[in-house]
Amino acid sequence: NLKRACVGVDIGTSGCRAVAIDDQGNEIAQASAAMPEPQRPRPGAVEQDPECWWRAVCEVLRTLADQMKDHRPAAIGLDATSGTLLLANSCGQPLGPALMYDDRSAIEAAERIAEFAPADSPARGIGSSLTKVLALVERTEPTSDALALHQADWIIGRLTGRHGLSDWNNALKLGYETERLLWPGWVKACIPNGIRLPQVLAPGSLIGTLDPAIAKEIGFPATTLILAGTTDSTAAVIAAGAASPGDAVTSLGSTLVIKILSERPVTASRYGVYSHRFGDHWLVGGASNSGGRVLRQFFSDTEIAALSQRIDPATDSGLDFYPLPGPGERFPHQDPDLRPRLDPRPADPVRFLQGLLEGVAAIEVEGYARLAELGAPAPTRVLSVGGGARNPVWTHLRARRLGIPVIQAERQEAALGAAQLALDSMTKPELVSHSDPT
Ligand code: ADP
Repeated sequence: NLKRACVGVDIGTSGCRAVAIDDQGNEIAQASAAMPEPQRPRPGAVEQDPECWWRAVCEVLRTLADQMKDHRPAAIGLDATSGTLLLANSCGQPLGPALMYDDRSAIEAAERIAEFAPADSPARGIGSSLTKVLALVERTEPTSDALALHQADWIIGRLTGRHGLSDWNNALKLGYETERLLWPGWVKACIPNGIRLPQVLAPGSLIGTLDPAIAKEIGFPATTLILAGTTDSTAAVIAAGAASPGDAVTSLGSTLVIKILSERPVTASRYGVYSHRFGDHWLVGGASNSGGRVLRQFFSDTEIAALSQRIDPATDSGLDFYPLPGPGERFPHQDPDLRPRLDPRPADPVRFLQGLLEGVAAIEVEGYARLAELGAPAPTRVLSVGGGARNPVWTHLRARRLGIPVIQAERQEAALGAAQLALDSMTKPELVSHSDPT
């Protein structure tokens, strides 16, 4: 009698990760596969052959299947890089390479969208999915029906044979209106004839079962359910365990990103603040240019860890830094010319590091205050993720300044979030009839 497992797959730019969890959420298997570097054929252009994603997904699923001796995979949840997009024909055959999330080559397409899009639309800007659709149409000149598909959408099409489906989270930057759950007229008006927008489903909803030929190839049962996906950052929030309004997630990676669950959506494009639909709530987020990248300009990770132990997080240094890697800030201050403030620089490296950690913490505090001012709730607890979350002195100092509990998230991997999304979905009425817990 095999026990049930739910699988999560996270597709990034450099590789793919997959995990399997049991009904209690415990990890029972994991696998990863590398992907080749994206191509940079022109200045600003970043492209990848979608086939390399597919090979990596098949490889990780095959490896998972080999590890699962006592469990039977029941469902696969999936997340991928948001803002990576390709055009494909109705059978899912790519019409060319995908434009990656960090492609910055589509300047004219972004300008054209600015003529159509409302001022606050997340589909504006050179990095948006909609910008990439227009740029790809210009380059490939598709003659018949072509589908605009995000990375996750395309993989789901390959797994199920059902092409042309997306989810609320991936579709946000394509211009989908997640409040009214429709494609607004202006998106349809700026999409060229012959391009089909995906049908958009709730993340985790049922799409179908695994294509039998693929099931055989990767060693999964053909009954495995394939669920609608999400974006990588949303999956990481699910993994961290944010569940109720007021739950916040601070990511202390190269940059500082803060997110909070809210009962209503909050949008402020001048600050780059958007909201993802997140179950019955909204996930409101903002990203500062400050973060761990600035620490690395002055210290190695080993030095940060060692020097931090000599900082007293209960007292303030009296320094008032605004650490930035260079001029320019978007959130919580919108100012393209804002200069880093790192003076006066103390000779003592411990005190200098303390000033940097306090400076980033002050931006975090201001960030949550800005989101609250825009309509989000005040945070009641902060789950920390990323390289800086490992630093207990920083955590202590941040908790004191925020005035609420700050906890290092036990689970930080997007793949675990995708698996959790699948597990949560198995309790939904539409899926219960398909689930077989034995
Ligand atoms: P990303 O994936 O965004 O590149 P990570 O989540 O891997 O980043 O975090 C890397 C950052 O974490 C680095 O910029 C580094 O400055 C910071 N970092 C690493 N170790 C520590 C530490 N002990 N305390 C604070 N910050 C740290």
